[in-house]
Amino acid sequence: SPALSIHQAVKTYSNGFTALKGVSFSVQSGEFFGLLGPNGAGKTTLISAMAGLSRLTSGHISICGHDVQREPNITRKLLGVVPQELVFDPFFSVREALLFQSGYFGLHKNDEWIDEIITNLGLADKANTNTRNLSGGMKRRVMVALALVHRPPVIVLDEPTAGVDVELRQNLWQFITRLNKAGHTIILTTHYLEEAQSLCNRIAMLKHGEIVALDSTENLLHAE
Ligand code: ADP
Ligand code: ADP
Repeated sequence: SPALSIHQAVKTYSNGFTALKGVSFSVQSGEFFGLLGPNGAGKTTLISAMAGLSRLTSGHISICGHDVQREPNITRKLLGVVPQELVFDPFFSVREALLFQSGYFGLHKNDEWIDEIITNLGLADKANTNTRNLSGGMKRRVMVALALVHRPPVIVLDEPTAGVDVELRQNLWQFITRLNKAGHTIILTTHYLEEAQSLCNRIAMLKHGEIVALDSTENLLHAE
């Protein structure tokens, strides 16, 4: 089954606004997939539904063949989401935050993988620093690290480079590309076409809650 399958996703918020108007697409295992769209297109709404953080009004989403609504305990383990906001416990050091997150997934011998994440994300110097004392860019790295703790096969990044400096952006892309080559499915939202172009093998364009284009990056660009 596909890494991600979205079937006729509709989301109408309680104020009556419909942010997703019947979105359908699938992402195959191993793809580096871009979800492009301007602000307000519905990208975050869709990610929130994938993560099981909000319910669709109608339609279905499954991760590796498991329905997000019916099997949340399974899909939670299959998915790693890097949200836009920086949210973590301000009293933990970087390493403590990662260990705590491991415990949440029932992983108690995870130190080697945690070391690998810390090193690959350039956090080694900050491993024992309290997360609250980190710069914005470093906090962003911690958010990526937290999403990877349970080695999810499918990784979703919501505008990970928004407001991020050039060095971190390149560092982040190298690491994510490496994860993709190691077999992880990557789904990235962005409103930068160039970013999706250079990284993604397939791109969906979301506008006003609808998919308006979906093709290989090559075909989409030649159609311009
Ligand atoms: P749901 O329909 O999924 O129950 P709600 O409409 O109750 O969601 O809103 C959930 C949260 O989103 C609320 O805390 C609300 O303040 C916030 N919210 C409301 N309008 C917007 C908006 N236009 N953009 C982002 N967040 C919003
Ligand atoms: P994107 O991530 O592509 O910028 P969002 O999914 O955040 O788009 O928002 C899509 C639309 O839904 C926007 O018009 C936004 O104002 C609206 N929206 C988001 N959350 C809520 C909410 N809780 N209640 C009402 N409207 C919302």
